[in-house]
Amino acid sequence: KRAKVSGRSESYLTQDFTIARDAFAMETALRRAIENRRLHLTYQPICDLATGRVTSFEALARWTDEDGREYAPNDFIPVAEESGLIVPLGRWAIEEAARTLAAWDLAAGGNCGVKVAVNLSAIQLQRDDIAPVVAAALAATGLSGHRFTLELTESAIVSDPDRIAGAMHALKSLGTTLAMDDFGTGYSNLAYLQKLPIDVLKIDRSFVTEMLADRDKVSIVRAILSLAQALGMKTTAEGVETNELAQTLAALGCTYGQGYFFARPLAADAAFAMLGFAAPP
Ligand code: C2E
Ligand code: CA
Ligand code: CA
Ligand code: CA
Repeated sequence: KRAKVSGRSESYLTQDFTIARDAFAMETALRRAIENRRLHLTYQPICDLATGRVTSFEALARWTDEDGREYAPNDFIPVAEESGLIVPLGRWAIEEAARTLAAWDLAAGGNCGVKVAVNLSAIQLQRDDIAPVVAAALAATGLSGHRFTLELTESAIVSDPDRIAGAMHALKSLGTTLAMDDFGTGYSNLAYLQKLPIDVLKIDRSFVTEMLADRDKVSIVRAILSLAQALGMKTTAEGVETNELAQTLAALGCTYGQGYFFARPLAADAAFAMLGFAAPP
């Protein structure tokens, strides 16, 4: 690190120091935010493309700092991963999503009819034993495991295949659904797809948003859809921004869609309102 900066100007050194200090400041602030419950989850609907009905909500983390600035996950998840804070953050997300879903059931006077999906980071899967965390959240809220989806990326699997396979089987035995996130962007070792208990492939937004303009993207989406079908998996298209995309994907046989056409990530109350029950008290 020192070798890298030597020979550079004084001002560069100062700037480098500032960047390092900012990352540390962010880590400190994030640690405090987790302790003080200053994070919240937003919920984005995932819809059945054939019927348009909401089948689940993906929980997406947001952080509002003490000055009222809101940070998107791409700003703070990397800091959380590097610092190890992803473990308490990830546990909180599982518990918070379960509490919200249980509250919706209560307001609906029974099963409100949707699942909740929570993201798991590769680092979190390496550092934490995740199935007992999910089991405890289910026990605390009385929810059935069938109401939970866990989304993980290909990088998680590549990083430590045996450990991740063990965690995935443990999660399946709780009844949860497992989704492969951002499919198509990671390493293209397809062997794991057959070996691991994956229920849903989420087709990365980069293939979906450009589908109508780029024929190659359509071919990739078609290929992923037939691969999933051959393996008995369902599919979710990310980044469905227009009605035309929703129609096209439905015609191609994609199971679910998620994106701004249906709704942006919403506050919990607004998400619940989409289900058409009376508002919670
Ligand atoms: P992701 O899992 O791929 O989540 C989808 C992202 O795409 C979300 O960004 C969502 O707001 C955005 N999105 C949804 N529909 C559309 C659309 O139609 N067009 C466009 N352009 N974007 C759309 P967000 O909320 O900023 O989250 C970014 C990433 O941060 C997520 O990507 C996920 O990998 C990660 N993340 C979010 N919450 C958590 C968490 O609690 N734990 C972990 N480990 N990661 C999280
Ligand atoms: Ca996701
Ligand atoms: Ca994704
Ligand atoms: Ca993504």
